[in-house]
Amino acid sequence: MTRISPQPGIMDIELYQGGASHLAGVTDVLKLSSNENPFGPSPAAVQAVSEAAAKLHRYPSTDHAALRAAIGAVHDLDPDRLIIGVGSDEVLTWLALAYAGPGDEVLYPEHGFSLYPIVARAAGATPVTAPETARRVDVDAILARVTPATRLIYLANPANPTGTMIGADEMTRLAAAVPESCILVLDGAYAEFVDGYDGGAALVDRHPNVVMTRTLSKIYGLGGLRVGWGYAPRAIIDVLNRIRGPFNMSNVALAGAEAAIRDQEFVRTCRIANAEQRARLAGGLAQLGIPSDESHANFVLARFADADRARAADAHLKAHGILVRLVAGYGFPEALRITVGRPQDVTRVLDAMATFPGATA
Ligand SMILES: *Cc1c(COP(=O)(O)O)cnc(C)c1O
Repeated sequence: MTRISPQPGIMDIELYQGGASHLAGVTDVLKLSSNENPFGPSPAAVQAVSEAAAKLHRYPSTDHAALRAAIGAVHDLDPDRLIIGVGSDEVLTWLALAYAGPGDEVLYPEHGFSLYPIVARAAGATPVTAPETARRVDVDAILARVTPATRLIYLANPANPTGTMIGADEMTRLAAAVPESCILVLDGAYAEFVDGYDGGAALVDRHPNVVMTRTLSKIYGLGGLRVGWGYAPRAIIDVLNRIRGPFNMSNVALAGAEAAIRDQEFVRTCRIANAEQRARLAGGLAQLGIPSDESHANFVLARFADADRARAADAHLKAHGILVRLVAGYGFPEALRITVGRPQDVTRVLDAMATFPGATA
């Protein structure tokens, strides 16, 4: 008799590390560790969620037609080529489960989102990384790592945790060069923070093997509701719908997400506030001798002299009740990822860092 054992690769998965949310003995904690919207969700979404709560005895829609129609209307996309998931995490996971398996490779940039190796291994495939150049995605390095076994390429643009971005020309060149045996997944978790950027939707329209994912967890301020979506060629949507649980989305999540999507004024306000406060945060840190690359998202990757200094800064911020993210697991032991907050939050971070021993200002 053989004993039960998980599929190959599963025990190689390192557990996802979320951003810290509590500090012992501190009541006034400022959480800047998970790239959440500091203004919270749209009031329209909160209202829709509470109204939907009265109908919790009903099963939710299985086709999510109303939410897909709302997304289609706002983004000018074909609702039949949209799929809704429990966060974009679920869409990213379906792609791996449906298209990669043992012997296949899943490729992503070296500082890429930590979920990518998790979903690759969950599918039994082999994660492969491509080097970045000065904390920026390098399209040629990615293409050089594509082999006949490569089934998926995951690419976040803007990227997490660097906040850097590649331009439309680079994305276009990558999409055109990826072989048809491989799907390019453009993870647009932070796309809304870039004014006028379509997250790669136009590339999806032009290629049979390009997919875009988006989330309501970041600019929409709905990380706790768990809603994300994918936009893909019809053939890929048909595949993903076969492994999607019929009732994957609760009626509360669907209602809240639809109201949030329809409140684009809220998104616009948050994008403008984020850009202003991001400039204040990055500029203030630079004055203290702490550099960062130009960020296109709602966080800044602050770089210190070495890992010891980064850990000391993290401890110093914690002593001031501020939680940020150590990103050694992403290959940046010398850096801290700091989410952009409200004006008063940015002030609190800069005031705290001004008293960090050895700060230069
Ligand atoms: C936050 C984030 C996501 C979104 O995950 P959800 O499951 O939608 O909450 C996806 N990709 C990247 C790069 C992220 O940082």
